[in-house]
Amino acid sequence: MTSSNSRESIVIVGAGIIGLNVASILADQGLGQYVTVIAEHLSGDTSINYTSPWAGANFSAISGHDANALRWDRTGYQHLTRLAKQVGAESFVQQTPSTEYWDDKVSDDKMQSLSDYLHDFQIIPTGELPEGVASGLKYTTVTINAPEHIKFLHRRLKDNHGVRFLRKKIADIKDAYISPKTEVVFNCTGNASAHLVGVEDPKCYPTRGQIVLVKAPEVHENVMRHGRDYVTYIIPRPYSNGNVVLGGYMQKGVGTSDTFSHETESIMKRTSELSSEVRDNKAEVLAVLAGLRPSREGGARVEAVGYQVRGQDRLLVHNYGAGGTGFQAGYGMAFDAVARAKSVLDRLSSAADQAKL
Ligand SMILES: Cc1cc2nc3c(=O)[nH]c(=O)nc-3n(C[C@H](O)[C@H](O)[C@H](O)COP(=O)(O)OP(=O)(O)OC[C@H]3O[C@@H](n4cnc5c(N)ncnc54)[C@H](O)[C@@H]3O)c2cc1C
Repeated sequence: MTSSNSRESIVIVGAGIIGLNVASILADQGLGQYVTVIAEHLSGDTSINYTSPWAGANFSAISGHDANALRWDRTGYQHLTRLAKQVGAESFVQQTPSTEYWDDKVSDDKMQSLSDYLHDFQIIPTGELPEGVASGLKYTTVTINAPEHIKFLHRRLKDNHGVRFLRKKIADIKDAYISPKTEVVFNCTGNASAHLVGVEDPKCYPTRGQIVLVKAPEVHENVMRHGRDYVTYIIPRPYSNGNVVLGGYMQKGVGTSDTFSHETESIMKRTSELSSEVRDNKAEVLAVLAGLRPSREGGARVEAVGYQVRGQDRLLVHNYGAGGTGFQAGYGMAFDAVARAKSVLDRLSSAADQAKL
């Protein structure tokens, strides 16, 4: 290492799936030893201010027509499929059969774009759709045990790539420039980007979701129904001895961590109507939980801005607002975020190469 590189050269604020994906791409580029992740909450913690452990989580055809979102989805699907095939049990990612239904017809363009990359893609003929459903498809999805997957990423980054994790809450984004050597900061603070000083993005808002975690080892298939004003889903949690996530809700602008018994009853009713595997087997309720998707009007923000710190020109790369897609789109978002810092990262890489000579 030259005197110009240090562990503080690159700082990532946030240890949710978004920050961990940025760290993973930097580590794969050989920069892990120059990365410090600062976060109030780290994998293994639970808090309403830390969304990632609450996610279902799977890939679903949930994104609308936004070109960025569709590209991130595709990159994420390919990345997660690779993980499932190569290190599935270790990373808690698995390929599973999935059926998705929509109450409103899905455009041919969207179906075409999904058919380009989803494995075993199959449109369900109209005559075979359940009552009230306008479009349906079957394919092989990727399903993630969210709390365990983020622990896996944290461990791998720390043990194999020398990434440093600091538990710390910052009050202002400028405090992320922890040393005069900090050249670039990645802001991956999720919902906190609404009020973190120096970011304060008025487009951010939470979207609450309640889920019911059940023990139901007979359930092996993901099923999702995208209604006009509701969403219902069944996600068998990989490598969990038969736990299944049943959901859900998409409550725009609702920020409470409370859970409600009438929502639990609605989830149990809707999921048993949707899936014969849930209907035919008695699911034992293990927990009822609520999480807040970090949503943003206009979609996620992946953008680099110049930043002056102590009279020095520095870079700030925003990467937040993944809403309900942080696990499926997070790798693609991280890829773009890292690309936005290319000139700084190239400089750090060549300084590291020089030091080896
Ligand atoms: C019920 C539910 C189901 C979901 N299902 C899916 C799914 O099936 N598929 C999917 O792709 N996505 C799903 N999601 C969405 C997914 O969980 C989110 O998109 C994702 O977790 C967002 O990750 P993040 O890293 O942006 O935020 P977070 O996980 O909230 O991480 C934010 C990080 O920033 C840190 N931080 C914030 N402020 C500060 C500060 N001031 N100082 C220091 N650190 C700070 C926090 O401590 C934390 O480490 C679901 C979400 C919910 C709630």
